[in-house]
Amino acid sequence: MTNSATTRRKASNPSHPSHAALPAGGAARADADGSATEPGRDCPRCPRLGEFREAARARAPGWFNAPVPSFGPDTAMLLIVGLAPGLQGANRTGRPFTGDYAGELLYGTLLGHGFADGTYQARPDDGLQLVDCRITNAVRCVPPQNKPLPVEIATCRTFLAATLADMPNLRAIVALGRVAHDSTVKALGLRAAEAPFGHGAEHSAGALKLFDSYHCSRYNTNTGVLTPAMFRKVFAEVRRYLDAAPVKP
Ligand code: SF4
Repeated sequence: MTNSATTRRKASNPSHPSHAALPAGGAARADADGSATEPGRDCPRCPRLGEFREAARARAPGWFNAPVPSFGPDTAMLLIVGLAPGLQGANRTGRPFTGDYAGELLYGTLLGHGFADGTYQARPDDGLQLVDCRITNAVRCVPPQNKPLPVEIATCRTFLAATLADMPNLRAIVALGRVAHDSTVKALGLRAAEAPFGHGAEHSAGALKLFDSYHCSRYNTNTGVLTPAMFRKVFAEVRRYLDAAPVKP
């Protein structure tokens, strides 16, 4: 390994437990069909996010500071799509929704509806397992102020689309917030007018059903936009739908 490669690997903290899920360097991992579900940890496709990532690595070298990989089995029937890693949450810990307030509400809700097993302790090594459920983000890298640019959302959609295509048993998607909804609708090839975002809305896409929820961010719960009861109701509907869904042939 060259000196520069050694420096880069150290800077991106490859000993972090979640890095095992990411290809090294900038190249994405291609699956058997040639699609790429996981970007490399130095993914170069969004220059602004790459610079932000490098600054975070310099500031906090013990953090994950790389595109956050999907969490949960690719055989799951349910995929949850969030917006992007939080700076001090998933970007720090390397697991989606782990380490900040949004994770408290999301994982508590998943545990309550049989989509997770174990105890959520806000750490990637807490042993929590997702059950027939997977979590990903519309944008894999942490954006400044939690606001990805439209071009970054569009660029990272290649990984979202590949993730959808890589789940043979997928029957339901929960989009957390409008950005996740809009990007998922595009990745599914739906027309935006056919599937407008709304909390509690449900949209059919062939054999799939897309469920919408406001994002479970601290801001949304503090302002009363989303209450824990509203959030749980969405997942109760998903549970009901999946329990009644015929198994794919
Ligand atoms: S947001 Fe997605 S496409 Fe952009 S640099 Fe990160 S992993 Fe690559």
